[in-house]
Amino acid sequence: MKRILITGGAGFIGSHLSERLLMDGNEVICLDNYFTGSKENVSHLFKHPFFELVRHDVIQPYYAEVDEIYNLACPASPIHYQYNAIKTIKTSVMGAINMLGLAKRTKAKILQASTSEVYGDPEVHPQPESYWGHVNPLGVRSCYDEGKRVAESLFMNYYWQNKVRIKIVRIFNTYGPRMHPNDGRVVSNFIIQALENKDITIYGDGSQTRSFQYVDDLVEGLIRMMNTDDSILGPVNIGNPEEFSILELAQKVIELTDSKSKLIFLPLPQDDPTQRQPDISLAKKLLNNWQPSVQLEEGLLKTINYFTEKLYK
Ligand code: NAD
Ligand code: UDP
Repeated sequence: MKRILITGGAGFIGSHLSERLLMDGNEVICLDNYFTGSKENVSHLFKHPFFELVRHDVIQPYYAEVDEIYNLACPASPIHYQYNAIKTIKTSVMGAINMLGLAKRTKAKILQASTSEVYGDPEVHPQPESYWGHVNPLGVRSCYDEGKRVAESLFMNYYWQNKVRIKIVRIFNTYGPRMHPNDGRVVSNFIIQALENKDITIYGDGSQTRSFQYVDDLVEGLIRMMNTDDSILGPVNIGNPEEFSILELAQKVIELTDSKSKLIFLPLPQDDPTQRQPDISLAKKLLNNWQPSVQLEEGLLKTINYFTEKLYK
């Protein structure tokens, strides 16, 4: 049995990862300051004898004996990471330093949840890991993008200088049950608006694209990456390469919810990337032919069911 630490474990992705790692027979310590996560996200795991929930902020050091660390702590939606930009940078940078220090002392493997945002508004499409990105270092998204880029650099340097066993994954837009209903991300916004027959808010003309991955596919990819041998460091893209415009997503959500909502067009936020699609050939090669298995429609239906239960039952 491995003892696995998940920072940000009470968040959207962290809660699914906690569930899966417990199911696989591990002990899980879930560390969270509840900024965007909640106890409710993991309350169904409280009765599990090998689950432990700790209120802790990763900008402070944390001491425990662990075998593996998944470093997920960081607000992920633009509204939340821009709410206190300095705190977001501290979480990414000081959080990475503290968790890498813990990995160094305990000789644990450590995986960093990096992001497609390190590619910024990409000029190369789809994005392979070899692309260095096109990030505005002074823009409103830079607290998140640059924080995550520094974290990647820290991971590499702890590997080079201290032989820490690192793994870096770059996660592309992920959705599913337990997304925060008010975090402003496009999938949760559109589903809630459609269920309430309210206007669907398209930012810009809706021609910008994203590639949406269902959370179960991501969790499988994260675990496979952690289980690779020590020579595999990443970065590895984990995402669904099927690309949709935001307008297409809106139409799909309206159709699946049988909604009477109308589309309205609002200004595009600053530095909103125009396109995003992962090149996942490296993940396929290194992660035992990993590829997403949940189609958009199937994943949206599961997420719609979740929000229907949460909002109306
Ligand atoms: P989330 O906001 O639901 O989860 C983040 C968790 O981290 C929350 O539970 C939050 O309370 C916790 N947290 C934030 N700051 C903290 C701190 N200082 N100390 C301790 N805990 C803290 O978001 P998510 O979508 O589950 O994202 C998890 C990770 O995956 C993040 O690192 C994010 O950058 C990365 N990621 C997510 C996506 C996506 O589409 N969801 C895409 C790329 C990368
Ligand atoms: N978006 C939108 N309406 C919304 C929320 C988001 O049109 O109500 C757009 C947003 O401008 C962006 C895309 O959807 O182009 C994805 O936004 P999200 O915040 O989910 O993720 P990110 O921009 O970080 O990929």
